[in-house]
Amino acid sequence: MDLYKEKLFSATTDSSPAVRAVWMGTAGLYVSDGETGFFIDPFVSRYGLLKVICGFSLPPMKPEIQDWIQKVGGENAQAVIVSHSHYDHALDAPFFAEKTGAVLVGSASTIQIGRGAGLPEKQMRVVQPGEHYAIGRFEITFIKSRHSKAVLGRIPWPGEITNPLIQPAAASDYRLGETFVIHVSHPKGSFVHMGSAGFIEGMFAGMKADTIFLSIAGREDTRELLRQSAASLQSKQIIPIHFDNFFQPLDKEMSFLLGADLPEFIQTTAAFNPDMVVRTLPIGQTTVLLPFRKPLE
Ligand SMILES: [Zn+2]
Repeated sequence: MDLYKEKLFSATTDSSPAVRAVWMGTAGLYVSDGETGFFIDPFVSRYGLLKVICGFSLPPMKPEIQDWIQKVGGENAQAVIVSHSHYDHALDAPFFAEKTGAVLVGSASTIQIGRGAGLPEKQMRVVQPGEHYAIGRFEITFIKSRHSKAVLGRIPWPGEITNPLIQPAAASDYRLGETFVIHVSHPKGSFVHMGSAGFIEGMFAGMKADTIFLSIAGREDTRELLRQSAASLQSKQIIPIHFDNFFQPLDKEMSFLLGADLPEFIQTTAAFNPDMVVRTLPIGQTTVLLPFRKPLE
């Protein structure tokens, strides 16, 4: 009876706020439980495809960064986490950290981008695969992954950034570095962020996540990707990301990235496992992420 009471008590008094998330386009997220907030791969300095492939310098768009910090309520963010150092994940990260006072967290290559941006050493933290990082009630684990062969069957801009990357720099200066998948657990539940559609077989062995944010650009076989990610994690919900055309400004109406093929992803997932919920988020709107609740049909 006492045990029952205690259980009932803890269930009914768990009034702590839900975990909310905002998709910022590409693989960018802001996540907060009302006490602790952090960004993953925030990227808003969008340049046209020609500028990117012709090697133009791409300065961070500081007014847009400031606007997005306000828009998502991220003024007190504690961390800016980067999954890999390509420009569409890492270019703006030091400046989100600079404006909010958050710690830049990522691979050695990502930290070189922070150094080039002038972030002090105490505001940066290099992480290794397998490492855990706790902020507030969030426990974050960095899992070693592999980038997808996203462009013409090749991994774009491979290699490391070995010196401070002075900005502005060209897209090709943002070398890949380590590729992480990020597992986040919280008393309200868990989620995974995959910033690229690549994977290492069995990388999620023994792990679970209620929801997975899955970059679908540059994926190879959709079923194999699902098997190695959402199915392995026993995820109840997949939120596809990185299918939007990031060669146009964020304030323009969303269009699809060439070849990302969201319809094929949705159809294949429905055939693969009809119980998996696929849900897309509107860019820039706050959504309750955890605890997971199945959307009404
Ligand atoms: Zn990439």
